[in-house]
Amino acid sequence: MTKFATESAMNHELLAKYEPVIGLEVHAQLLTRTKIFCSCSTQFGDLPNSNVCPVCLGLPGTLPVLNKRVVELGIRASLALNCAVHEHSRFARKNYFYPDLPKGYQISQFELPLATGGWVEIDHDDKFKRIGITRLHLEEDAGKSLHDGFTHSAEKTYVDFNRCGTPLSEIVSEPDMRTPDEAYAYLTTLRQILLYTGVSDCNMEEGSLRCDANVSVRLRGTRGFGTKVEVKNLNSFRYLAKALEYEIERHIGVIESGGRIVQETRLWNQAASKTEPMRSKEKAHDYRYFPEPDLLPVHVSNAWRGEIRASLPELPAAKRARFVSALAVTPYDAEVLTDTQSLADYFEAVVIAGAPGKAAANWMQTELLRRLNVSGKEISCSPVSPAALAGLVSLVESGKITGAVGKKVFATMFETGRSAADIVAAEGLGAQVSDAAIEQAAREVIERNPDNVAKFKSGNEGVFKFFVGQVMKATKGQANPQVINDTLRKLLS
Ligand SMILES: [Zn+2]
Repeated sequence: MTKFATESAMNHELLAKYEPVIGLEVHAQLLTRTKIFCSCSTQFGDLPNSNVCPVCLGLPGTLPVLNKRVVELGIRASLALNCAVHEHSRFARKNYFYPDLPKGYQISQFELPLATGGWVEIDHDDKFKRIGITRLHLEEDAGKSLHDGFTHSAEKTYVDFNRCGTPLSEIVSEPDMRTPDEAYAYLTTLRQILLYTGVSDCNMEEGSLRCDANVSVRLRGTRGFGTKVEVKNLNSFRYLAKALEYEIERHIGVIESGGRIVQETRLWNQAASKTEPMRSKEKAHDYRYFPEPDLLPVHVSNAWRGEIRASLPELPAAKRARFVSALAVTPYDAEVLTDTQSLADYFEAVVIAGAPGKAAANWMQTELLRRLNVSGKEISCSPVSPAALAGLVSLVESGKITGAVGKKVFATMFETGRSAADIVAAEGLGAQVSDAAIEQAAREVIERNPDNVAKFKSGNEGVFKFFVGQVMKATKGQANPQVINDTLRKLLS
């Protein structure tokens, strides 16, 4: 897992005296084609105010109709996060005024959320830890205020209502994280699960995944919670870690100098590398929540929930465990190979096509991923298919070509899309040099180097490598190293 260098100015002893307590609230846009309460498109990047209708503009007299697919995706996420999905949940009105919220209230779930009581397991520094999930609820997004880029931006704010009514799931964690690294690992794990289940595209640049953090500190060894601050605007994994580090030190600094932390919402200012106060934190009663009168309660039958559970894919953690136990790869390999569903699928396809797990894992992590990375291609667009890679692996594993030749063949496969067998035959790389030819080459090398033969016979084992190198050179790197070894041992004994 990624670690961040602490750029801390605060001394280590002072930091160690306090324990941070961190919880995250993550908003993930659900991957539907249409909005949560109307049939407008959710397409990102369309012309401002082109995907709007009377319902999502909140015009008087309109009525919301719940999009079933939103509930389905919400249930899917909840089950993957080990939550209890409730038979009955309900939408409520959260009242507040904001220019990008034309109704004057947001429809969200409040006292009866879709699901509660889940967990995810994070792997941080090879230690596993469960992070509790308090709740997952459904809600609509607000529009977007645009502060620059338009003719009158200097004196006006523009509003784009396209995002109004886009479906969100809000996933609230327990305050179970104790370091910025753990928070980073939690968000990474959560994102991977949402991607595997196809619930969200989790695109942070487009705002499909947004994260707010609640953070406080307490004296290490104590059990009560300190005053918490909510930090918003954490629209990248890096900002999350940096903002938490900043905020933890700020809290300790205030407390140590005899001050008190004020409960408030702060914004991360990336340019200034610090958090800044935004507003004092509202309490729930400020929003005057009440049940949404225009929508029926949400009912999830056992049958529907069971159907969705049965359709869940194998999740990343289970896949990693299976790769290690059934396909004999290392835990590190498994972590790399399950990074995305398509990478894991590719790996399994190579194995199904006949390659041993460990060899397939090695070729993918060295040659394939490196070349994909350099050429900026996704695994789904790999010029080398899983079956073609398995073909190459089998030529190397069976000793028909050496590993070194295999790498050259792979480079040609990647550029041309041709099969390994094809390239080996066409370029005469073919394995191999026969055993007789190896023996011939070995005899010649021995004959030409009587001094080294004498050294070897007097017990200088190091000189053996010299002979192997010479025979390898004589056979242009195409001979099987094991056969060279055996032949030389035989001739030199
Ligand atoms: Zn609409």
